[in-house]
Amino acid sequence: MTDKKGTIHHRSGEVAVNKHSAEKTGYHGGCHCGAVRYQINGPVDDTVMCHCNLCRKLHGHVSSYARFDRHHLDLIRDDGLRWYRLSEKTDRGFCKECGTGLFWRPVRTDHMAVMPGTLDDSANMTTAGQIFCADKGDYYPLDPAIKQLDQS
Ligand SMILES: [Zn+2]
Repeated sequence: MTDKKGTIHHRSGEVAVNKHSAEKTGYHGGCHCGAVRYQINGPVDDTVMCHCNLCRKLHGHVSSYARFDRHHLDLIRDDGLRWYRLSEKTDRGFCKECGTGLFWRPVRTDHMAVMPGTLDDSANMTTAGQIFCADKGDYYPLDPAIKQLDQS
């Protein structure tokens, strides 16, 4: 796995672009019911939208991910948080009370990803691109305004 600028990773749930749209370094978010609340005390990458079958299955549709350093995650409330072991390499974090999907956590890296819809304020973020476009569902069109990125 390379780490050069702009490289996209999507292996066992890790999706990342090495780009920040702003230098904002503090984010708050949580699930719908409030049983999970978190704070990210650092920068968060722009989001990547993924059309792959696994993402569409897990989220009911396309999902987006924004990568950040896992050491910057501060769980303010986690009594609802459950980690689902997707594979030996990846955990998916969701609220067991309301079902909100919140995190991807590759087991052996320093990064994880947040689902940007769970942020209280994502106004400074943007979508860097979309991946696995060939695997998209038949029931919707691709948005040509969102750059198609190659997945590694
Ligand atoms: Zn919840």
